[in-house]
Amino acid sequence: MSTRETLSTEVIRQRIAAAREKLGKDLTIFAHYYQNIDIVRSADFVGDSLQLAQIASDKARARYIVFCAVSFMAEMARILCEPRQKVFHPESSAKCPLAEMAVIDDVEKAWARLTGTGRRFMPVVYVNSRADLKAFCGKNGGFVCTSANARKAMEYVLSQGAVPFFFPDENLGRNTAHAMGILDEEIFLWDPVKDVSDMDFPGIAGKKAILWRGFCYVHVAFRPSDVEEARKTYGDISVIVHPECTPDVVRLSDHVGSTSYIKKTVEAAGPGTKWAIGTEVNFVNCLKADNPDKLIVPLRECECRDMSNVTLLKLLTVLENLVEGRPQPEVAVDPENARYARIALERMLTIT
Ligand code: SF4
Repeated sequence: MSTRETLSTEVIRQRIAAAREKLGKDLTIFAHYYQNIDIVRSADFVGDSLQLAQIASDKARARYIVFCAVSFMAEMARILCEPRQKVFHPESSAKCPLAEMAVIDDVEKAWARLTGTGRRFMPVVYVNSRADLKAFCGKNGGFVCTSANARKAMEYVLSQGAVPFFFPDENLGRNTAHAMGILDEEIFLWDPVKDVSDMDFPGIAGKKAILWRGFCYVHVAFRPSDVEEARKTYGDISVIVHPECTPDVVRLSDHVGSTSYIKKTVEAAGPGTKWAIGTEVNFVNCLKADNPDKLIVPLRECECRDMSNVTLLKLLTVLENLVEGRPQPEVAVDPENARYARIALERMLTIT
């Protein structure tokens, strides 16, 4: 008899379908676009962080939410869903390394120094962050943003006469600032591993944005030479990249935007068009499978190993545990953090 670990993908798919049928309306499965294609095909809702946050707060009515993504997204579902709902993450060790690049003690230290200057700052945390950082923003008049609404978020802060203190992704912050006409000289980079005395802190006086030194290892792997190579190989190909890529890659590309923007743009393009896509490769593979009338290639094969820690088999385990009433760990968020993080998330949904 085969053990669970040796089940074929086909058998896992069938057992997932059977478990889903038994759980019926009690179950909703969410999957981020960067999950592998089998998980994406098993989900009720697939989207980027913003879409999933909106769905989790508006539409998910099921008793059990199973969230296939990295841990901060499952936490976000926990924060936004009703208390009667239970949220499960098939692999609790699947964390986003970018989200781990800002920790609350360091952010609080930076905030104390910044606000000590007498200037008005507003904290904006990228959705790829721990719940306590979202809560920090909720407590300090700030909010959450995603790659789909980072510009609106920064514009909102400036319209309030404040300076955005944006963390933890430097590239998203820098690309957004550039798109708004803010120059590199007008940006202050807060480096959490440096002492403030090594950061030209007095130079902060005239800056229009404060960014955090953090990055996504998947998106910084794309290089300007990848763009050149794609153009050389495919001629009239359009290059579209995610704003977590470095500014030198963004500058050479034809389009830049969130995962949902990339999806919409490519789907709306005519048959026969050619696309080189600079984002996570599982998403590129799904897009390719759904758009056989276009030539779609990854700008480089960059996989998020952390998203890939959530597997179809782990999804099956969660579902079968639910069917059989076996206890399993739920996603939990400290209630105080959840309350303030919810404020920061709700502000995002209001202003964007
Ligand atoms: S692709 Fe980058 S930002 Fe997204 S989960 Fe993976 S490491 Fe984090």
